[in-house]
Amino acid sequence: MNQLSPDENINATLAHLAKALKTPTIGRVWQQLGNTAREQGWSHEQYLAAVLQRQVADREANGTALRMNSARFPARKTLEDFNPDYQPSLRRDVLAHLATTSFIPTADNVILLGPPGVGKTHLAIGLGIKACHAGYPVLFDTAAGWITRLSAAHDQHGGLDKELRRLRRYKLLIIDELGYIPFDADAANLFFQLVASRYEQGSLLITSNLAFSRWGEIFADDVVAAAMIDRLVHHAEVISLDGDSYRTRTRRELLETNTTKKL
Ligand code: ADP
Ligand code: MG
Repeated sequence: MNQLSPDENINATLAHLAKALKTPTIGRVWQQLGNTAREQGWSHEQYLAAVLQRQVADREANGTALRMNSARFPARKTLEDFNPDYQPSLRRDVLAHLATTSFIPTADNVILLGPPGVGKTHLAIGLGIKACHAGYPVLFDTAAGWITRLSAAHDQHGGLDKELRRLRRYKLLIIDELGYIPFDADAANLFFQLVASRYEQGSLLITSNLAFSRWGEIFADDVVAAAMIDRLVHHAEVISLDGDSYRTRTRRELLETNTTKKL
Protein backbone atom coordinates (compact mmCIF):
# COMPACT_ATOMS: atom_id res chain seq x y z
CA MET A 1 0.00 0.00 0.00
CA ASN A 2 1.22 3.49 -0.78
CA GLN A 3 2.26 5.22 2.47
CA LEU A 4 2.32 8.73 0.99
CA SER A 5 -0.53 11.20 1.30
CA PRO A 6 -1.90 12.38 -2.10
CA ASP A 7 -0.01 15.66 -1.69
CA GLU A 8 3.29 14.00 -0.88
CA ASN A 9 2.66 11.63 -3.72
CA ILE A 10 2.21 14.37 -6.30
CA ASN A 11 5.26 16.22 -4.88
CA ALA A 12 7.43 13.16 -5.30
CA THR A 13 6.00 12.38 -8.73
CA LEU A 14 6.56 15.91 -10.04
CA ALA A 15 10.07 16.06 -8.57
CA HIS A 16 10.83 12.74 -10.29
CA LEU A 17 9.30 13.84 -13.61
CA ALA A 18 11.10 17.21 -13.62
CA LYS A 19 14.37 15.37 -13.03
CA ALA A 20 13.68 12.78 -15.73
CA LEU A 21 12.88 15.58 -18.19
CA LYS A 22 15.99 17.54 -17.08
CA THR A 23 13.79 20.56 -16.38
CA PRO A 24 14.92 21.72 -12.92
CA THR A 25 13.05 25.00 -13.19
CA ILE A 26 9.75 23.14 -13.49
CA GLY A 27 10.71 21.17 -10.36
CA ARG A 28 11.27 24.48 -8.57
CA VAL A 29 8.29 26.52 -9.73
CA TRP A 30 5.31 24.20 -10.22
CA GLN A 31 4.16 24.47 -6.62
CA GLN A 32 4.39 28.24 -6.23
CA LEU A 33 2.81 28.82 -9.66
CA GLY A 34 0.09 26.30 -8.69
CA ASN A 35 -0.79 28.47 -5.70
CA THR A 36 -0.84 31.60 -7.87
CA ALA A 37 -3.00 29.79 -10.43
CA ARG A 38 -5.55 28.81 -7.77
CA GLU A 39 -5.61 32.33 -6.29
CA GLN A 40 -6.04 33.96 -9.68
CA GLY A 41 -8.29 31.36 -11.25
CA TRP A 42 -5.97 30.47 -14.15
CA SER A 43 -7.13 27.79 -16.57
CA HIS A 44 -5.12 24.54 -16.76
CA GLU A 45 -3.72 25.72 -20.04
CA GLN A 46 -2.59 29.04 -18.57
CA TYR A 47 -0.89 27.25 -15.68
CA LEU A 48 0.89 24.84 -18.00
CA ALA A 49 2.05 27.72 -20.21
CA ALA A 50 3.34 29.67 -17.18
CA VAL A 51 5.35 26.69 -15.90
CA LEU A 52 6.84 25.92 -19.32
CA GLN A 53 7.60 29.57 -19.96
CA ARG A 54 9.72 29.77 -16.82
CA GLN A 55 11.66 26.69 -17.84
CA VAL A 56 12.30 28.03 -21.33
CA ALA A 57 13.37 31.45 -19.99
CA ASP A 58 15.85 29.82 -17.60
CA ARG A 59 17.21 27.55 -20.28
CA GLU A 60 17.76 30.50 -22.64
CA ALA A 61 19.45 32.52 -19.89
CA ASN A 62 21.72 29.59 -19.03
CA GLY A 63 22.57 29.06 -22.69
CA THR A 64 23.48 32.72 -23.08
CA ALA A 65 25.64 32.63 -19.94
CA LEU A 66 27.46 29.55 -21.24
CA ARG A 67 28.05 31.13 -24.64
CA MET A 68 29.27 34.38 -23.03
CA ASN A 69 31.78 32.42 -20.94
CA SER A 70 33.09 30.31 -23.78
CA ALA A 71 33.36 33.36 -26.10
CA ARG A 72 36.35 34.63 -24.04
CA PHE A 73 35.54 38.32 -24.40
CA PRO A 74 38.35 40.42 -22.85
CA ALA A 75 35.74 42.74 -21.28
CA ARG A 76 31.99 43.19 -21.12
CA LYS A 77 31.28 46.05 -23.50
CA THR A 78 27.72 46.27 -24.73
CA LEU A 79 26.26 48.06 -27.73
CA GLU A 80 23.94 49.81 -25.30
CA ASP A 81 27.03 51.36 -23.65
CA PHE A 82 28.36 52.54 -26.99
CA ASN A 83 27.58 56.17 -27.61
CA PRO A 84 27.14 56.66 -31.39
CA ASP A 85 27.29 60.47 -30.98
CA TYR A 86 31.05 60.08 -30.57
CA GLN A 87 31.27 58.24 -33.85
CA PRO A 88 29.48 60.23 -36.56
CA SER A 89 31.18 58.17 -39.28
CA LEU A 90 29.21 55.11 -38.11
CA ARG A 91 25.77 54.98 -39.68
CA ARG A 92 23.18 54.17 -37.06
CA ASP A 93 21.01 52.15 -39.41
CA VAL A 94 24.02 50.00 -40.30
CA LEU A 95 24.81 49.42 -36.63
CA ALA A 96 21.16 48.66 -35.84
CA HIS A 97 21.09 46.17 -38.71
CA LEU A 98 24.27 44.44 -37.50
CA ALA A 99 22.84 44.32 -33.98
CA THR A 100 20.02 42.09 -35.27
CA THR A 101 22.78 39.49 -35.98
CA SER A 102 21.11 38.64 -39.29
CA PHE A 103 24.56 38.60 -40.91
CA ILE A 104 25.45 35.43 -39.01
CA PRO A 105 23.13 32.80 -40.56
CA THR A 106 24.22 33.99 -44.02
CA ALA A 107 27.91 33.71 -42.98
CA ASP A 108 28.60 37.35 -43.86
CA ASN A 109 31.59 39.14 -42.39
CA VAL A 110 32.03 42.43 -40.56
CA ILE A 111 35.23 44.44 -40.94
CA LEU A 112 35.84 47.37 -38.61
CA LEU A 113 38.69 49.64 -39.68
CA GLY A 114 40.07 52.69 -37.95
CA PRO A 115 42.80 54.21 -35.80
CA PRO A 116 43.29 53.25 -32.12
CA GLY A 117 40.67 54.30 -29.58
CA VAL A 118 37.69 54.78 -31.91
CA GLY A 119 35.70 51.89 -30.40
CA LYS A 120 36.50 48.93 -32.69
CA THR A 121 37.03 46.44 -29.87
CA HIS A 122 34.02 47.81 -28.00
CA LEU A 123 31.80 47.31 -31.06
CA ALA A 124 33.25 43.85 -31.75
CA ILE A 125 32.47 42.69 -28.21
CA GLY A 126 29.06 44.38 -28.28
CA LEU A 127 28.12 42.57 -31.48
CA GLY A 128 29.56 39.34 -30.08
CA ILE A 129 27.35 39.67 -27.01
CA LYS A 130 24.31 40.21 -29.25
CA ALA A 131 25.24 37.01 -31.08
CA CYS A 132 25.49 35.07 -27.79
CA HIS A 133 22.04 36.32 -26.84
CA ALA A 134 20.69 35.29 -30.21
CA GLY A 135 21.94 31.74 -29.61
CA TYR A 136 25.11 31.74 -31.75
CA PRO A 137 28.36 30.34 -30.33
CA VAL A 138 31.10 33.00 -30.57
CA LEU A 139 34.86 32.93 -30.05
CA PHE A 140 36.96 36.06 -29.54
CA ASP A 141 40.73 36.43 -29.75
CA THR A 142 43.31 38.89 -30.99
CA ALA A 143 44.96 38.24 -34.35
CA ALA A 144 48.14 37.26 -32.47
CA GLY A 145 46.09 34.93 -30.26
CA TRP A 146 44.54 33.27 -33.31
CA ILE A 147 47.97 32.66 -34.83
CA THR A 148 49.19 31.07 -31.60
CA ARG A 149 46.13 28.82 -31.56
CA LEU A 150 46.43 27.86 -35.22
CA SER A 151 50.17 27.19 -35.12
CA ALA A 152 49.75 24.99 -32.04
CA ALA A 153 47.15 22.99 -34.01
CA HIS A 154 49.36 22.95 -37.13
CA ASP A 155 52.26 21.45 -35.15
CA GLN A 156 50.21 18.33 -34.58
CA HIS A 157 49.82 15.96 -37.52
CA GLY A 158 46.63 16.90 -39.39
CA GLY A 159 45.82 19.24 -36.53
CA LEU A 160 45.09 22.36 -38.54
CA ASP A 161 42.26 20.80 -40.55
CA LYS A 162 40.83 19.34 -37.37
CA GLU A 163 40.99 22.70 -35.62
CA LEU A 164 39.41 24.53 -38.57
CA ARG A 165 36.61 21.94 -38.62
CA ARG A 166 36.15 22.32 -34.87
CA LEU A 167 35.92 26.09 -35.25
CA ARG A 168 32.91 25.63 -37.54
CA ARG A 169 30.75 25.15 -34.48
CA TYR A 170 31.37 28.84 -33.70
CA LYS A 171 29.04 30.82 -35.90
CA LEU A 172 31.02 34.01 -35.28
CA LEU A 173 34.79 34.27 -34.89
CA ILE A 174 36.13 37.63 -33.78
CA ILE A 175 39.67 38.58 -34.75
CA ASP A 176 40.71 41.75 -32.96
CA GLU A 177 43.70 43.95 -33.70
CA LEU A 178 44.74 42.62 -37.07
CA GLY A 179 47.72 44.70 -38.18
CA TYR A 180 49.28 45.60 -34.85
CA ILE A 181 51.83 42.86 -35.32
CA PRO A 182 53.02 41.93 -38.82
CA PHE A 183 52.86 38.23 -39.65
CA ASP A 184 55.72 36.13 -40.95
CA ALA A 185 55.07 33.89 -43.96
CA ASP A 186 53.93 30.92 -41.80
CA ALA A 187 51.53 33.06 -39.80
CA ALA A 188 50.17 34.69 -42.98
CA ASN A 189 49.56 31.23 -44.43
CA LEU A 190 47.73 30.06 -41.30
CA PHE A 191 45.60 33.17 -41.30
CA PHE A 192 44.80 32.71 -44.97
CA GLN A 193 43.64 29.15 -44.28
CA LEU A 194 41.38 30.39 -41.51
CA VAL A 195 39.79 32.99 -43.79
CA ALA A 196 39.45 30.45 -46.63
CA SER A 197 37.83 27.87 -44.35
CA ARG A 198 35.25 30.38 -43.15
CA TYR A 199 34.38 31.61 -46.64
CA GLU A 200 30.58 31.27 -47.03
CA GLN A 201 30.63 28.86 -44.05
CA GLY A 202 30.77 31.08 -40.99
CA SER A 203 31.08 34.74 -40.08
CA LEU A 204 34.27 36.57 -39.22
CA LEU A 205 34.37 39.91 -37.47
CA ILE A 206 37.77 41.51 -37.95
CA THR A 207 39.07 44.77 -36.53
CA SER A 208 42.16 46.47 -37.90
CA ASN A 209 43.97 49.75 -37.49
CA LEU A 210 45.15 49.52 -41.10
CA ALA A 211 43.12 50.33 -44.21
CA PHE A 212 42.92 47.54 -46.82
CA SER A 213 45.47 49.39 -48.93
CA ARG A 214 48.05 48.68 -46.21
CA TRP A 215 47.24 45.03 -45.52
CA GLY A 216 50.19 44.02 -47.68
CA GLU A 217 52.32 45.26 -44.75
CA ILE A 218 50.61 42.84 -42.35
CA PHE A 219 51.14 39.77 -44.52
CA ALA A 220 54.43 40.93 -46.07
CA ASP A 221 52.88 40.01 -49.40
CA ASP A 222 50.51 42.09 -51.51
CA VAL A 223 49.20 39.07 -53.43
CA VAL A 224 48.26 37.14 -50.29
CA ALA A 225 46.70 40.27 -48.83
CA ALA A 226 44.65 40.88 -51.99
CA ALA A 227 43.42 37.26 -52.06
CA MET A 228 42.46 37.52 -48.39
CA ILE A 229 40.60 40.82 -48.80
CA ASP A 230 38.81 39.42 -51.86
CA ARG A 231 37.37 36.51 -49.85
CA LEU A 232 36.61 38.63 -46.80
CA VAL A 233 34.71 41.42 -48.51
CA HIS A 234 32.73 39.30 -50.97
CA HIS A 235 29.92 39.11 -48.40
CA ALA A 236 30.73 41.74 -45.80
CA GLU A 237 29.83 44.96 -44.10
CA VAL A 238 32.96 47.10 -44.10
CA ILE A 239 32.88 49.98 -41.65
CA SER A 240 35.56 52.65 -41.51
CA LEU A 241 35.62 54.56 -38.27
CA ASP A 242 37.53 57.76 -37.94
CA GLY A 243 37.82 60.65 -35.58
CA ASP A 244 39.65 61.10 -32.33
CA SER A 245 40.39 58.41 -29.84
CA TYR A 246 37.48 58.13 -27.41
CA ARG A 247 39.94 57.96 -24.53
CA THR A 248 41.70 61.22 -25.47
CA ARG A 249 38.43 62.89 -26.36
CA THR A 250 36.58 62.12 -23.14
CA ARG A 251 39.67 63.10 -21.18
CA ARG A 252 39.86 66.40 -23.05
CA GLU A 253 36.15 67.05 -22.47
CA LEU A 254 36.60 66.30 -18.79
CA LEU A 255 39.48 68.74 -18.63
CA GLU A 256 37.47 71.38 -20.50
CA THR A 257 34.49 70.98 -18.13
CA ASN A 258 36.78 71.29 -15.15
CA THR A 259 38.37 74.40 -16.62
CA THR A 260 34.95 75.92 -17.33
CA LYS A 261 33.86 75.19 -13.79
CA LYS A 262 36.91 76.96 -12.40
CA LEU A 263 36.18 80.14 -14.41
P1 ADP B 1 39.85 50.51 -30.42
O1 ADP B 1 39.62 49.05 -30.32
O2 ADP B 1 39.31 51.12 -31.67
O3 ADP B 1 41.28 50.89 -30.19
P2 ADP B 1 38.29 50.57 -28.00
O4 ADP B 1 37.06 49.85 -28.44
O5 ADP B 1 39.25 49.78 -27.18
O6 ADP B 1 39.02 51.21 -29.26
O7 ADP B 1 37.85 51.89 -27.23
C1 ADP B 1 38.69 52.54 -26.28
C2 ADP B 1 37.88 52.82 -25.01
O8 ADP B 1 36.92 53.82 -25.30
C3 ADP B 1 37.11 51.63 -24.50
O9 ADP B 1 37.08 51.70 -23.09
C4 ADP B 1 35.73 51.81 -25.08
O10 ADP B 1 34.74 51.21 -24.25
C5 ADP B 1 35.59 53.32 -25.11
N1 ADP B 1 34.79 53.80 -26.24
C6 ADP B 1 35.22 54.01 -27.49
N2 ADP B 1 34.27 54.53 -28.27
C7 ADP B 1 33.18 54.66 -27.48
C8 ADP B 1 31.84 55.15 -27.69
N3 ADP B 1 31.46 55.65 -28.88
N4 ADP B 1 30.98 55.12 -26.65
C9 ADP B 1 31.38 54.65 -25.46
N5 ADP B 1 32.63 54.19 -25.19
C10 ADP B 1 33.52 54.18 -26.18
MG1 MG C 1 41.00 47.58 -29.93
